[in-house]
Amino acid sequence: DQVLRVLARDEKQLSLLRDLEGLKPQKVDFWRGPARPSLPVDMRVPFSELKDIKAYLESHGLAYSIMIKDIQVLLDEERETMAKSRRLERSTSSFSYSSYHTLEEIYSWIDNLVTEHSDIVSKIHIGNSFENRSILVLKFSTGGSQRPAIWIDTGIHSREWITHATGIWIAKKIVNEYSKGGVLTDILNAMDIFIELVTNPDGFAFTHSMNRLWRKNKSTRPGIFCIGVDLNRNWNSGFGGNGSNNNPCSETYHGPSPQSEPEVAAIVNFITGHGNVKALISIHSYSQMLMYPYGHSLQPVANQEELYHLAKGAVKALYEVHGIEYIFGSISTTLYVASGITVDWAYDRGIKYAFSFELRDTGRYGFLLPASQIIPTAQETWLAILTIMEHTRTHPY
Ligand SMILES: [Zn+2]
Repeated sequence: DQVLRVLARDEKQLSLLRDLEGLKPQKVDFWRGPARPSLPVDMRVPFSELKDIKAYLESHGLAYSIMIKDIQVLLDEERETMAKSRRLERSTSSFSYSSYHTLEEIYSWIDNLVTEHSDIVSKIHIGNSFENRSILVLKFSTGGSQRPAIWIDTGIHSREWITHATGIWIAKKIVNEYSKGGVLTDILNAMDIFIELVTNPDGFAFTHSMNRLWRKNKSTRPGIFCIGVDLNRNWNSGFGGNGSNNNPCSETYHGPSPQSEPEVAAIVNFITGHGNVKALISIHSYSQMLMYPYGHSLQPVANQEELYHLAKGAVKALYEVHGIEYIFGSISTTLYVASGITVDWAYDRGIKYAFSFELRDTGRYGFLLPASQIIPTAQETWLAILTIMEHTRTHPY
C-alpha cells in the first residue's frame, strides 16, 4: 500500500477527490481528507488499487506525489522497535516513554502511577466500551470537592498512536512537576485535571491485533455489515451535518443517533455529572494544528477573539521547544467542516475553553510517526497545554 499526496488546485478538483470515497468504497483511506485547496490531501491506497487510482488522478489532471512508498516497511519498523524496547516495565520510572505500548501495558502503567502517587492521582472507571473494556480516567487532584477542572482526552481515533503516547508522558510530567512548584503547582492547587488516555479502547486493541490503521470504534448493529462509528462525529452538536457520513461503511460514519456509542456516552455522563469542567482539550493527529470551535459551522463563537489569542500563545510556546510550526484557528476554517465533534459539544455545554490538537507530523509519516518522535512531540505539546491551563486558571468563570 502507498500513501499518495494530492494537491488540489481548486474546489472542482477537491470534489473529484471526494467522489473517490463513493467510487471506491472502503478502498481509499483518507489520512487527510479533502478540505481546502491550500491543504494537501493524503490517502492510503491498497496495492491492488494503485494502478486504478493513479489513472483516475492523472486523467483528471490531479497532481500527486508518493508520500509513503510502502506502508509495510514502516509497519515492520514500528513493530520491531516496540519489540526491542519492551523490557520489564515494572514501575513508571522504568517504563519506556519513547515507545508505543499496547492497551494492557498502558492500563498496567496507569495502575503503577496511581500506586506510586496516590497522594495526587487516582483512577476513575467511567464506563465500558462496546466490547466491554474498561474506560478509565486519571484524576489529578490536591483536594477540595468538584474543583474547576480541565479535561484532556487522547486516542479517540485509535490509529493516532502519538496521542496516547503524548498523554502518558504528560501524565507523568504532571506528577513530576507538581512537587517542584511553579505554574503547574498553582494550577493543581486551584483545579483538578482529568486525562482519558485511551478514549477508544476497542479500536486501540484492534490497531495492535489486526489493523494498525483502524480509526473508528468497534460497535456492530444487526443488519449492518460494516463495523464501527467515528467517535468524533457521534456528539450531540450539529449531529449528522456536513463533514460526517450516514453510511456505516464510511470512516466518518456518525452512528445512528447522538451519543449512541458507549465511549462517547461515558464522557458525556462524566463531564455533565461533574458540572464544573472549564477547559476541554481533545488530542488527535496528524497535521500540526491547534483549533477551537466550531467544526460544524463557519459561524464564529462568542469568545472567538479570546480563543484566537490563546491558541496563538499556545502555538508560540510549542514552537519555542523544538521549532515545530502549527497553524491555528477555528476547526471549520482551519481544517474542514466536521459535525458531531467533541469540542463543539463541549462548547455548547458551556465549556468555553475547548481545543483540539492535531499533533505531528505533516504527512512524512502520518499516523506511523516513529517512536523516536514521541518525547519531543510530548515536550512541545505540554507547553501548549500548560498555556491553555494557565489561562483557564487565571480567567475563572
Ligand atoms: Zn483524529
